[in-house]
Amino acid sequence: MAELSNCIYCGQVFVKESSSVCRNCQKDIDRQFHTVYDYIKTKAHRQATVQEVHEATQVETWLIYKWIEDRRLDTKSFPNMGYPCHSCGQPIQRGKLCDKCLKHMQRDLERAESSHHVQDDPRASQYLTYHTEDH
Ligand SMILES: [Zn+2]
Ligand SMILES: [Zn+2]
Repeated sequence: MAELSNCIYCGQVFVKESSSVCRNCQKDIDRQFHTVYDYIKTKAHRQATVQEVHEATQVETWLIYKWIEDRRLDTKSFPNMGYPCHSCGQPIQRGKLCDKCLKHMQRDLERAESSHHVQDDPRASQYLTYHTEDH
C-alpha cells in the first residue's frame, strides 16, 4: 500500500517515496540547489552566509538550512554557512543544538538522572514487596 504524504514544499498530497517532497518540487528544488551550489562554489563566495546566498540566489533560507543540516552542503567548504539551533536559533553547523543548548540539555539530563536514582528505589522496593507478597 502506497503511503500518502503532504509535500513539505508545495503542500500537495503525493505518493511518498524516498523523499518528503513531490516529484515536481524535487525537480524545482534540485534546480535551486544547483543555483545555490554554483553561487557558493566560486572562490569569491565561499565565505558567504546563508543570508547572503539567499539574497544573491533568491532561494528560500529554510531550504538552504535544510541542505546544510542534511550535509548536502558541506560546511567544511563553506565555513560561514550554518542553520539555526533548534532551541535558541544560534547558527550551528551540525547536530540539532548549539553548544550552549547542548550543555543545558546535558545538565538537565544529569539532574533527571540523579533524581531518577532516588525515584528508582521505590520501584525496586515495590518489586521486593511484590516478591515477598508472592510467598
Ligand atoms: Zn510539491
Ligand atoms: Zn541553542
